[in-house]
Amino acid sequence: MTPSVHQVLPTSAYYAPGVVSTAPRLLHVSGQPGTIEGTAPADYNSQIHLALVNLHRVMAAVGATVRDVIKLTYYIVNYDPNHRLHTRPLQTWLTGHRPAMTLVPVPSLAVPGWLFEIEATVAVPESVPSSLALTQPTEDVDVLVIGAGLSGLMAAETVLQAGHSCLVLEGRDRVGGKTWSCPLPSGEGVIDLGAAWINDTNQSMMIELARRAGAELIEQNTTGNCLLQREDGAVTGFPYGQTPRITAQMQSEMEAIRDIAEADCQALDCRHPRDTTLDSLSFLAYLHSRDASPAAIANASVWTRAMLGQEPQDVSALYFLNYCKSGGGLLQMRSDRKHGAQYLRVRQGTQIFAKTLAAGLPEGTIRLGERVTAITQKERGVTLVESKGRVIQARKVICSAPTPVLKTIRFDPPLPAKKQLLVDSFRYGYYTKVMLSFRSAWWVTRGYCGLAQSFCGPASIYRDTSSPADGKWVLTAFLAGDAGRKWSELGSQREREQALLRQLGEMYGAGDLPKREFIEAMGHEWSTEELSGWGCPCPALPPGVLSAAGDALREPFRDVHFVGTETAEEWKGYMEGAVRSGRRGGLEAVKWLSRSNL
Ligand SMILES: Cc1cc2nc3c(=O)[nH]c(=O)nc-3n(C[C@H](O)[C@H](O)[C@H](O)COP(=O)(O)OP(=O)(O)OC[C@H]3O[C@@H](n4cnc5c(N)ncnc54)[C@H](O)[C@@H]3O)c2cc1C
Repeated sequence: MTPSVHQVLPTSAYYAPGVVSTAPRLLHVSGQPGTIEGTAPADYNSQIHLALVNLHRVMAAVGATVRDVIKLTYYIVNYDPNHRLHTRPLQTWLTGHRPAMTLVPVPSLAVPGWLFEIEATVAVPESVPSSLALTQPTEDVDVLVIGAGLSGLMAAETVLQAGHSCLVLEGRDRVGGKTWSCPLPSGEGVIDLGAAWINDTNQSMMIELARRAGAELIEQNTTGNCLLQREDGAVTGFPYGQTPRITAQMQSEMEAIRDIAEADCQALDCRHPRDTTLDSLSFLAYLHSRDASPAAIANASVWTRAMLGQEPQDVSALYFLNYCKSGGGLLQMRSDRKHGAQYLRVRQGTQIFAKTLAAGLPEGTIRLGERVTAITQKERGVTLVESKGRVIQARKVICSAPTPVLKTIRFDPPLPAKKQLLVDSFRYGYYTKVMLSFRSAWWVTRGYCGLAQSFCGPASIYRDTSSPADGKWVLTAFLAGDAGRKWSELGSQREREQALLRQLGEMYGAGDLPKREFIEAMGHEWSTEELSGWGCPCPALPPGVLSAAGDALREPFRDVHFVGTETAEEWKGYMEGAVRSGRRGGLEAVKWLSRSNL
């Protein structure tokens, strides 16, 4: 759709000096405060997130998105120009769109406790009927699956096993989505640019798939000490499984918050997480509300970075705690041992799972290089899907494209308001893995297991991802959150590599040993890829959205069913969640098809 809001003068700021709108109808939104069910949290940053969600809900009701915003006016109580906390959530929300803006400092707002209020003028998008309805379909199929990642392939297998015809359209030139295994340029072995770890106890579908694929599993190395690098660069060693003992006081502060977060996440309903108090807060505000000390906050910030690539002030506390619960709890998700999320790796690489699923489907089921651009639902049981200018008719569609990618698919009729709110709000943080290959496992000979975490970066975490059988000695650096994003802005690949080798030398007190042992580095910028939704490993939600629209997550839209790891009830964000969601979506379609065949 052609945008109806245009900037008047170019600017480097995140707002425009003026905009012109060609929209025939305008929506004027009253001041929206940062409340949830009428209550405002004490935390200022969380109120900003909530006010934006409240504004977004009004916009979604007329089918408008952030790109349709013409003018924003926001009112800030006790405004401090040296502490412009509103810019970060606003810029993130605007995702590059630049409306006209005015900030009005005020002594108070309508209700005591309100600290932020926002009003808007928005262009109401015109609904242009899709031309697909007039196009003759070239093919007809029972179920069309969008995407050949793990969720899409599992959905296709489920549909085919039930005896229905199925076609999978994949935009990339390969299967596997966020699993992507490549050979190391020099030497033996394979590295995973995407997902790497599974376990053999509570990830039942993945371990079954591993058996089917004949995967050789490598147990994560947890023998030896770990390291913690603090904000000032000082380093503390500690045995695997314990919290770092910077001082006895700091250790007990970190453990106390860990135990509180574990208890709070265990108390949530995995399938329908409901807690407006938790959802009214960012995870950072939640930590403050639990009296977390600076050391405990620094430690807990590594969790949101390492698990979602998010800074704790950007993600809803309810979303993060539910994410942890979906993987059995914070402790289990952080663990590299038996039952933990990082227990086993795959010698052949995890793309073997998608390749195995794909090989089991009848020839011709998967078409690569076919990006879906439009979905038109004519009547019950008749959905038209466009790819490369051709139209295919399906009785059911299963969409496994990551939720942020749905912005690039034209839906006619448009997605329901709650689903659109999810599509616009789900976003990835910054998350990249870089695999650094060395001539030897020099960290092992110095008595370390390779697990190291940092409060300052550039990498937040390192893990040993060696494959001894291949003579492959690798440390994987996790570049996540703000420090990772900053690292990604370094000029050249060599500068980025050198920054990591320097950090390793400092952490291990090893001088230039890492540089001398270094062979090569491999990584992938998932944040630049439209088909991954501009990020990985799993999109997350800011405060307020889960309460407003969480029930639309797995809800089909007429004949379009939604799968993908973020829709999973268990192991959200992981391969296990992806295959479970794929099975669920496949069964939903099969159930309807079986009933309609009676
Ligand atoms: C760096 C990284 C590390 C990770 N670490 C782990 C880990 O250790 N353990 C773990 O379990 N998980 C991990 N994950 C997460 C895991 O990879 C994902 O949860 C899982 O692979 C997601 O599968 P999916 O099918 O839901 O989505 P995807 O894999 O994203 O698949 C969606 C597919 O849809 C296609 N597509 C998108 N839009 C369109 C369109 N319009 N038309 C046609 N096709 C389209 C895409 O190309 C893609 O192939 C990691 C991911 C990354 C990237």
